Formats: sequence, C-alpha cells, structure tokens
Amino acid sequence: MSIKKRFQPRLEQREADYLYRRRPLVFSAQQPDMNINGIECINFSSNDYLGLANHPQIKQALIEGLQTQQDLSYGSGAAHLVTGHHLHHHLLEDELADWLGVERTLLFSTGYMANLAVQQTLMHAGDIILADKLNHASLIDGARLSEADFKRYPHLDMQALERRLQQAQAKHSQAMIVTDGVFSMDGDIAPLKAMQQLAQKYQAWLFVDDAHGIGALGEHGKGCFEHFGLQPDENTILVGTLGKAFGTSGAFVAGSSVLIESLIQFARPYIYTTAMPQLNALAIREALKLVKNGQASRETLQQNIKHFREGALQIGLQLWPSDTAIQPIMLGKSDTAVEWSEALKQAGFWVTAIRPPTVPQNQARLRVTLSAIHTPEQIDQLLDALKAIQSTSSV
Ligand code: PMP
Repeated sequence: MSIKKRFQPRLEQREADYLYRRRPLVFSAQQPDMNINGIECINFSSNDYLGLANHPQIKQALIEGLQTQQDLSYGSGAAHLVTGHHLHHHLLEDELADWLGVERTLLFSTGYMANLAVQQTLMHAGDIILADKLNHASLIDGARLSEADFKRYPHLDMQALERRLQQAQAKHSQAMIVTDGVFSMDGDIAPLKAMQQLAQKYQAWLFVDDAHGIGALGEHGKGCFEHFGLQPDENTILVGTLGKAFGTSGAFVAGSSVLIESLIQFARPYIYTTAMPQLNALAIREALKLVKNGQASRETLQQNIKHFREGALQIGLQLWPSDTAIQPIMLGKSDTAVEWSEALKQAGFWVTAIRPPTVPQNQARLRVTLSAIHTPEQIDQLLDALKAIQSTSSV
C-alpha cells in the first residue's frame, strides 16, 4: 500500500474532527508582541515564563563570546563521548549542580531525550514504573523505551499511588514513581512532599520532570522542590528543561554521581546523539545568571497569574486549580476550543487550542500561559477579548 493511500484518509479524518495540527510561522518575536502568520498579536502561548528568550544580556554574551574566544565553535561536532563535550558544556553542568545543591548534572539536547534516557537506563525487566495519568508524552515514551512494567495512577491520587507501591513490593524488584513537577496542560503541581515520603517508605525512586517549574518556581527559581521547601534525596532524579523559563533550549538531569555516571555509560539517548551546540551552552550559562537573580521577575509573574485568574473568574470562565503560569480555560469540545482560539487571533491574541490526544476527550481547552513580561494592561485586554467571545458562544 502506498503511504498516500494509508495516510490520506487519516489526515482527512483529523481535519474533520477539528484535530489537525498546523505550525504557525513566527516572523518577529519581540516577546510578548509577535508577528505570527502575518498577524500582529500578543503571545499568551509561549513557555518563556521569565522573558529570557529574547533577552539582550544573553544576546550580548553570545556576541562577546564569539568576538573574544577564538576557539569558540558553534557546533559541538560530535556526541559528548566522542569529541562533542566542550568547555561551556562542562562549566554549565558544574554551575547547574552547584546551584541546585546536587552532586552532578548531565546535559541533554532536549527534555524529551532526557526523559527517554532516565527510564531506559534505570528501569529494567522485573521493575515497575508508576506514572501519574496526566504525565507528559515524553515520560510515557520513556516508559515504553524501558523494559519495565508500566502502571498509571489517577492524577495526583496519593492513595492510589500507595496501593500500587504496596502491590509492587510483592511482584517487582524496583519501583520508580514518575511525575511532572508542574503539569504541562493543567498547571497544577505534584504533591512532592507526600511523594518523597512514599518513595522513602517503599524504597522507590522518585523521578520528577520539572520542565515548567525550573526557573519559575521557588524563591531562587530552583523549581518544585524549592517551592515545597524540599531537597532532592539520593534516590531522586530531577529533570529540568532549558527551553522554557531559561529561554534557550536543552535539558539536564540532576542527581547523584552514580546516577549521572550510569546515564553516561548506558543511556542510548545520551550516547548516540550529537551534543547541543557549544554556543547554546554559553547562552544557558548566561540565562542561569538571570534565573538566579530573577526574584523580581518571578514576583511579577506571580502577580500576573493572580491578575489573570481574578479577572477570568470574575467573568465566569472555567479555570483549573492552578497557581502557576499555565492557566487552562476549559471549553470541552475541540471545535469550540478552535473557534475561541481563532476569535482571539482576530482580536490580536495568540492562545493555542489544546485538543485530544494531548488532553483527554471532551477536555479541549485554551492554554493561556503567562510571563513576567506581560503587562497588566495586556492581561486586561485579553480578558476583555475573552469576555466578548464568551458573550457570543454557547459555552
Ligand atoms: N516535559 C514536559 C512536562 C514538557 O512540557 C516538555 C515540553 N513541552 C518536555 C518535557 C520536553 O522538553 P523539550 O521541549 O526540551 O524537549
């Protein structure tokens, strides 16, 4: 059968179901004002929580680096284990470990790959992965890459998790609890204190993907653990991504020396891929300085979140219990979410509609994300536009 014959009907079905995905073309990104697909709009869809993606200090560091460091290559040229591990990668890993108070960190080109690597390396046949039902797709794919059994527990349900841990004790050699720190489509935060206690009680390992918490949460931006006044212990694996609050790209795994050495030896998504460009590592080093000194931005972000939530609840929108920068407006049907997103576009706001399979059936939503660089006026304008759309919609 030809590719066309097999896939054309599937593409057509997707379109008919309002599920077709398109990539908008971004022409200018003077965040949060953007030109996307030729439309001038305010972006309420990026994960640039602190406004670092276009920060002049990072651009300046790149320019100065290129001008003053003769041997600063752009590309890394090879995998880390071959000849791709350069000075800025090395320094960045040490700086991240120092900042987080862990023994070591290990860089990956994307969070997706870091999440594949952790589960493929650590969890084997005879083990079990216990995952929150709403975990990010990369965590689900990581579980698939490992040979361990895989069971999901209802979202944030610690009693259900404990029951599964009890069952696992009899049948499995090792259990790993896997969770998003901040849930990417819902914005709520995993109850890490209870999870750490359960992990310790049942000698399970705790793997937290803090893609949306690192940089944005906690007084010093150290993410979910700092938010709850906790520190990762020796059986905790922490992933932080660098394409969100850090405004760059890539990710790191943080934890014990043995964990990091095991990943270097055995993680296929680490070993068999080119290291991120060294220049990106330099940019991340500068972003880390901004994150460390980012208390004021994190406070502004919190004020923006509060401002949006109060306004949205006042006009009767259905929000989710989230105190983070991710604020879903629940709309139910995919076609409604697409209609609202299109109407917002016409009014000058970019807010992506999120539909199944990214979220469960009948839970389509607009995923509003807030940043420290949004002004209160821009948030008010968004709320006015939402109110106008709501008055003409059946939801
Ligand atoms: N984990 C979560 C929770 C995410 O939201 C994302 C990105 N959307 C990732 C991992 C993947 O990170 P990256 O984009 O760096 O591959």
